[in-house]
Amino acid sequence: MTRIDRNQLNDDEFRLQLRAWIEVNYLSPLRDPMRRLTGDEARQWLKAQHRDGWRAPALPAEHGGMGLSLRKQLIYQQELERFRVARPMDMGLRLLAPVLLRYGTTEQKAIHLPRILSAQDVWCQGYSEPNAGSDLANLRTAAQDRGDHFVVNGQKTWTTMASDSNMIFMLVRTCVEEKKQQGITFLLVDMATPGIRVRPIRTLAGEEHFCEVFFDDVAVPRANLVGQVGDGWAVGKALLGFERFSHGSPELLRHALLVLQRTGAALGLRDDERYRDTLERHACDVSDASALYEQVCETALAGGDADDDFSMLKLFNAEATQRIAEAVQELAGQHGGLIGAAPHLGLPDDLEWLYMITRPLTIFGGTAQVQRNLLAARALKLPKT
Ligand SMILES: Cc1cc2nc3c(=O)[nH]c(=O)nc-3n(C[C@H](O)[C@H](O)[C@H](O)COP(=O)(O)OP(=O)(O)OC[C@H]3O[C@@H](n4cnc5c(N)ncnc54)[C@H](O)[C@@H]3O)c2cc1C
Repeated sequence: MTRIDRNQLNDDEFRLQLRAWIEVNYLSPLRDPMRRLTGDEARQWLKAQHRDGWRAPALPAEHGGMGLSLRKQLIYQQELERFRVARPMDMGLRLLAPVLLRYGTTEQKAIHLPRILSAQDVWCQGYSEPNAGSDLANLRTAAQDRGDHFVVNGQKTWTTMASDSNMIFMLVRTCVEEKKQQGITFLLVDMATPGIRVRPIRTLAGEEHFCEVFFDDVAVPRANLVGQVGDGWAVGKALLGFERFSHGSPELLRHALLVLQRTGAALGLRDDERYRDTLERHACDVSDASALYEQVCETALAGGDADDDFSMLKLFNAEATQRIAEAVQELAGQHGGLIGAAPHLGLPDDLEWLYMITRPLTIFGGTAQVQRNLLAARALKLPKT
C-alpha cells in the first residue's frame, strides 16, 4: 500500500486530490448513498482505497490508517457524499477496529487490523438475538469456558451481511449473574468454523442483507477472546469510535428530498400548490438538519463534546427521511407501489424501495424510542423512568 501523510496537504489540496482520486477509482455504477455496496464491488472499492493510501481516515497512522485531523476527516466524508458513493460493508473498520485499539492484545491488533485494512476479512456484528435487541443484556448465546477454547451454542439474528462475511465479532454469555450486564464476553469468530449456519432473511425491500446465524458446539480458540471473560459489556460498548462525521450527516435526507423533487417534476406538479407546500416543508427540515450538522461539526472540530448532538441529529434525520419517503408515496399514488425504477415516468428512482429501505432507519443502532430515552437522560438530564 502507498503510505503518504496527507495531513501535510492544505485543506484545499487535500480535497482536490481526494476528489480526483474518487472520480477515477470509484468504479461501481451505484451512485446512491442509500444503496449498499456488497460482495466483490465492496471489496474492490476498499482494496483500491488501501492500495492508494486513502483507507481508514480516522485510524491512527501507527496502526496503518491515515490518522487524519478531524477537519480532514470531515472533508473526506464530504467528498464521498459529493460523489454519492454507495456505502460499503465495512464493520471491521467502523466498529471492530476501535474495540481492538482499546481492548485488543498486541497480537490481536497485529493479526486483525492489517486484514481489516486490506479488506481480506469482512466482519459482521453478532449482538442481537431473538429476545435481545434493545434489551441487549438479555442475550443468551452461551460460551462454555474449556480452558484453551470456548464452546459456543445459540442464535444471533438481524446480523447484517453475515452471508457476505468471513468473520463475526460477537457477545456471548459466559455465566449468569444477578445483573444481566455481567457475565457477557466478547469473542472473535471465524465464520468457517464447523457448527456455524447462516440463514439469510429476505426483507420487505427485497434484499437479503441480514441473516440469522446459528451456533452449534462451535469451538473458538481462547486467543480470540477480547478483554477479560465477563467484561464483554464494556468491550462491546467501545464500538462507536470512528463514525463521528457520518453519524448525523443529513446525506440520506438530502437524497430523499431529491427523489421527492424528481417525482413531483415527473408527475408535472411543479406548479401545484399542495405539492409546493409539501416540498417546502421537507426542504426546511433538510436546511435545519444541514445547518445543525455544520454547527455540530464545528463544535467537534473545536474540541467540544458533540456526541449527544450527533446522536440527536441521527435521530432527527432518520425520522425526517421517513417522512419524505411517505410524502413520495402519497404523491406518486398508484406508481408508488410498483417495484423497480419507474422509467415510464422518466424516473431513475425505485419509489417503493425508497419507502421500504427507510423503515429500518429508526431501528438499527438503537431504536428511535431508545435513543430518546438515552438523550433524555444524558443530554437533558431527565430522571430515568
Ligand atoms: C437494518 C438493520 C440492521 C441491523 N443489523 C444488525 C447487526 O448487524 N447486528 C446486530 O447484532 N443487530 C443488528 N440489527 C438489530 C438491531 O440492533 C435491533 O433490531 C434493535 O436493537 C432493536 O431490537 P429489536 O428488533 O429486538 O426490537 P425490540 O427491542 O424488541 O423493540 C421493539 C419495540 O419496542 C420499543 N422499545 C424497546 N425497549 C424500549 C424502551 N426501554 N423504551 C421505549 N421503547 C422501547 C422499541 O423502540 C421498538 O419500537 C439490525 C437491525 C436492522 C433493522
